[in-house]
Amino acid sequence: MSGLKKRGIWCSPGGLTQDAVNNHTGRLKKAGFNLMLPEVKHGDGKIAWQSERFPELARDNLNGFDPAAALVNAKEIHGMEMHAWFIDYYERVAFEEHPEWAQRDAMGRTTGEEQLRGQQFTAEWMCPAQRPGYTDQRLVPLYEDFAQRYAFDAVHHDYIRYPGDLAPDQYCFCDSCLEEIPKWANLYWEKWPKERFHHDTYDREYLEAHWEPTPTALPDNWDRLPRHMKAHFLLEGCFFEGGREDMDYFFYEFRKHWVTQFAKDSAEAVRAARPGMKISQAVFKNPIHAGRFIGQDWTRFSDHVDSCMPMNYRDHFPGDYEIYLKALEEIIIRQRDDWASDYEELLSGMAINFLFYEEEGPLAALARAAKDGDPGAGAAFWPMVIAAVRTHEPALADEIERWIDSTAPSYESSMKDVRWYQSHFNKGEVDSPKAAPESIKTGLASLLKNPPEGFYPASKVERLIDMVADCNIDGLVFFCDGHLDKYKMWDVVEAKFAQH
Ligand SMILES: [Zn+2]
Repeated sequence: MSGLKKRGIWCSPGGLTQDAVNNHTGRLKKAGFNLMLPEVKHGDGKIAWQSERFPELARDNLNGFDPAAALVNAKEIHGMEMHAWFIDYYERVAFEEHPEWAQRDAMGRTTGEEQLRGQQFTAEWMCPAQRPGYTDQRLVPLYEDFAQRYAFDAVHHDYIRYPGDLAPDQYCFCDSCLEEIPKWANLYWEKWPKERFHHDTYDREYLEAHWEPTPTALPDNWDRLPRHMKAHFLLEGCFFEGGREDMDYFFYEFRKHWVTQFAKDSAEAVRAARPGMKISQAVFKNPIHAGRFIGQDWTRFSDHVDSCMPMNYRDHFPGDYEIYLKALEEIIIRQRDDWASDYEELLSGMAINFLFYEEEGPLAALARAAKDGDPGAGAAFWPMVIAAVRTHEPALADEIERWIDSTAPSYESSMKDVRWYQSHFNKGEVDSPKAAPESIKTGLASLLKNPPEGFYPASKVERLIDMVADCNIDGLVFFCDGHLDKYKMWDVVEAKFAQH
């Protein structure tokens, strides 16, 4: 068998003492992993190392302990390849110090003012394009600092992009971007900003065929337009007045340019600070789509990143598990032969939790129905989890059946219902609630949080590993150690890795 030369995992550093870090690294090694990607720059902007340059960014609970230094020791002891995992543009503390570095939407709002699925969005996305700004004042210096101080094998980009789950066309219209997009795209002549430079004659069949002399494309009143009207022009406007609505092309290219530029700038800083240090990245699976939606056309990064780890996660694919396996194969082959062919290596990023959507989704919906006192909805989801709950928690299964029998089951169960129910959690009102006993609520909550060994089907993980191994790439990376714990998959992974 081939294809699993590297077996990686996105993980925590493992604890707050050298022993804890050693034990964590050793446990991963025993399970067959030979590559660890411990998180060192977190989504709140704090860091898991002791920096002289940014001492105030050290995680609050470290008390002087240096997880990065401990990981270097553990790496030596266990012979583990170690990549330092950075969350790039998703921040909190940098925003609190420098709100001007944040991305802004057409109304001037930051991502922290958005709602996502009914909840307040808590992170602040920082603008990749501003100079000076977050990229050159904070992010690249953090990479440089880490590379100087710690003998890791690589640093690792994550969130190297614009936000995707929040209206991907709505960022960034910060003051800097509004000024720089027209300059960058040469939408006017800086020497003659008011001159229109219309073509002498429009003698060709297509209006757009008259583009070469660089006519001015910005509207006359650009300087007087408020932010949201400038944003509207950049998304919906036309290069030629009366022509096609093509202005968004420049908006998307600008975003791709600056994300690529960050990959380049950080690579130069890291390679200068520690010659030989490698760079890896977690990116979205399809760089063509990711270029359009999140500014992440990673086919352009291959000079600046050595190892490519697309997040081929189940939730980024359509359909059920069987469709996922086939679609995953199609995508990995495309990555291998085309999109990632200029990279030194390709590892498939695999999320453990999303594999169990068919099992966990109905269980969570059932728990919610119990909480809401909605036995009718509970009856719809119960058939989808009955076998597993009955096997592992027979007393709880009896209780649930007594509760749902208190109403006539009236729903057909399907994953579609599960999705509907989950998306309506915060709106759904139950007509005549029939509260579930506390023991059902706590039983289901505990089953969700800490399922017994064997509750989730190991075959889903095993078949996935086999499939990636057959694709003839360099290996895979699992997300994450916490999910090996939660879904009780340590032994499953160890046994399967041993076969490859
Ligand atoms: Zn901006």
